[in-house]
Amino acid sequence: MPDPAPLIAVNSVVSPAPATLETAALDALHAFIERHPRLFVLTGAGISTDSGIPGYRDDNGAWKRSPPITLQEFLGSESWRRRYWARSMIGWPTVGLAQPNGAHRALAQLDAAQRVGALVTQNVDGLHQRAGSRDVIELHGSIGHVHCLDCGAQYTRASIQPELVARNPAVAGALAEPAADGDAHLDFDGANAFDIPACAACGGMLKPSVVFFGENVPRERVAAASAALDAADAVLVVGSSLMVYSGYRFCAWAQQRGKPVAAINLGKTRADPLLALKVAAPCAATLEALVARLAA
Ligand SMILES: [Zn+2]
Repeated sequence: MPDPAPLIAVNSVVSPAPATLETAALDALHAFIERHPRLFVLTGAGISTDSGIPGYRDDNGAWKRSPPITLQEFLGSESWRRRYWARSMIGWPTVGLAQPNGAHRALAQLDAAQRVGALVTQNVDGLHQRAGSRDVIELHGSIGHVHCLDCGAQYTRASIQPELVARNPAVAGALAEPAADGDAHLDFDGANAFDIPACAACGGMLKPSVVFFGENVPRERVAAASAALDAADAVLVVGSSLMVYSGYRFCAWAQQRGKPVAAINLGKTRADPLLALKVAAPCAATLEALVARLAA
């Protein structure tokens, strides 16, 4: 084991200028990684913004615009479901065509170098897997999949898109600002006209295979992530404000279990008071610099 590194500043916030990553921040992160060879990496929306996928929140953790749909709204109202699928039809290409960025690739390189014990993501965009990370735990599911709430049949989201477009040609050409998780800020007044496809197998209700707000993360998924945390030496948060409890809890559990938590995130996080190290810098530049250091 390397010596305990004096460079780690407990409860310090290192805020480099955006254009350059300060050597001190990189030194501290490098030392943290060397001291804790098995990392539990937890990622959030901030890692995918460089891939063109908008996040939900601003730098202060507040909603950028209206909050996303809840499970109760989706299940309880045909008009909410029409609104959801109309916005999804417009927003899907943004996430469906998105490519991994340098941060995803750097984490895949850390994984290949046996430095990542577990990669748990709050994102539903599948970009970690496409960058080459293995055994990713998708806490909130996958926007690339759809399932039937009645018979359980599973579909790819890509296979649903042509059907949505074919049934709703008037809406399909609409332009709208992309939003998080394949959503779009569509000013939509056709709530009673939008035609939602049903399950091809049974005619049942289709739902994207993601955990909506107001919906619990499946128990077995939490258990798998908790076991991965037990096997890890430390937590590295990348690109998350941790405002949602389903992600924040791993930091709280890490503290209870005596494992230090570091974070790379522009803006504040809910876990700031318990962080051993905070690097307030862009994810991709930071992780790419880290990987270059480790390879040197
Ligand atoms: Zn079905």
